[in-house]
Amino acid sequence: MTESFAQPARIESAQGHVHDHDPVARARRLGLSGGIAGGGMPNLFDYDRQGLRDLFAQLGEKPYRAEQVMKWMYHRRVTDFDAMTDIGKALRDKLSSEVRIVPPNTLLEKQAGDGTYKWLLGVDGKNAVESVFIPETSRGTLCVSTQVGCGLNCQFCSTTTQGFNRNLDAAEIIGQVWVAAKHLGNVPHHQRKLTNVVLMGMGEPLLNFGNVVTAMSVMRDDLGFGLANKRVTLSTSGLAPMIDKLASVSDVSLSVSLHAPNDELRTELVPLNKKYPIDTVLAACARYAARRPRTTVTFGYIMLKGVNDKPEHARQLVKLMRRLPAKVNLIPFNPFPGARFECSDETTIRAFQKILLDANVLTMVRRTRGDDIDAACGQLKGQVVDRTRRQAEFRRTLAKDVAHAA
Ligand code: SF4
Repeated sequence: MTESFAQPARIESAQGHVHDHDPVARARRLGLSGGIAGGGMPNLFDYDRQGLRDLFAQLGEKPYRAEQVMKWMYHRRVTDFDAMTDIGKALRDKLSSEVRIVPPNTLLEKQAGDGTYKWLLGVDGKNAVESVFIPETSRGTLCVSTQVGCGLNCQFCSTTTQGFNRNLDAAEIIGQVWVAAKHLGNVPHHQRKLTNVVLMGMGEPLLNFGNVVTAMSVMRDDLGFGLANKRVTLSTSGLAPMIDKLASVSDVSLSVSLHAPNDELRTELVPLNKKYPIDTVLAACARYAARRPRTTVTFGYIMLKGVNDKPEHARQLVKLMRRLPAKVNLIPFNPFPGARFECSDETTIRAFQKILLDANVLTMVRRTRGDDIDAACGQLKGQVVDRTRRQAEFRRTLAKDVAHAA
């Protein structure tokens, strides 16, 4: 069994969002917002094992009942209490009237020529997020979203052009895994088609800390999806203090979107760098890696033609990577309408990789998958009711660029 996290009743994220970890407070919150459960009843997808045990205790039920229900939800993918045949009728009726099990609504499902799947999932009637499944010979990786849109404004990212609306609830995050597992016929511990989860879709996971930690707990729980720590990867743009906070509750794999080997360039590409410069981020990563032997941190580096792909950039990157156990993922840029960057060419990417490999920095080039359905890295958009006016700004800039080019 994986651990459940004892958490304070309220966690305030760096964006000032408040997450409730007390079941009653959470139920109240869901009731007020409507949540994806609707009807004001708690959605059981919103709780990890300990949260469910607490909720059942509040309902006057034995905690082991929570575990029975959890197994039905995640191992057999059953959402109807009446189908839970090892639970007595009286309890099934009680659960039906007090709580719900509601996954996100699948609005669209697409399969790319290379077998990649993309799902568009409605989360509240107005907004939708995307998740992507990438099958490979020896594993199947699901990339999930953690926010509706993103407010961090990384310059090469399609998601951020949509603006930001809100954090996803834990139910909406774990619900993405549930929908994919159901579609794929994944059976935890037996026929695993879904072997890895990366929190790398829409949004910055560490700005939705409490809900992300709860969802990751279910991903790793034997009664949930039973994935090993190393098979769940949280990808952050570098919120250094939150990396330390993550280290205090979790052992998942850590990936950092670096994208530039010096502060001047990184601040241009990832504006968050102004607040948490490279030295600060790497120090937090080194602390994260130091807690366990054989832990490496993966650094994502998007390849942008003429911007960050020169040999001197590779040499600067080598120096940074020597500071901690690290590996590098070179990510060919996937253009999207209005993007102001181009992807580096193959020869440049290989030459960049060679400099790193020659310096003994383990470096892979990520293969682009699912680009015929806009499921490739950095292309996830979903449907975002923008609260930041970024979409309007982006459209204005795009119109100016088009007029200029004409
Ligand atoms: S790359 Fe990630 S953190 Fe940066 S804007 Fe896009 S979704 Fe947000």
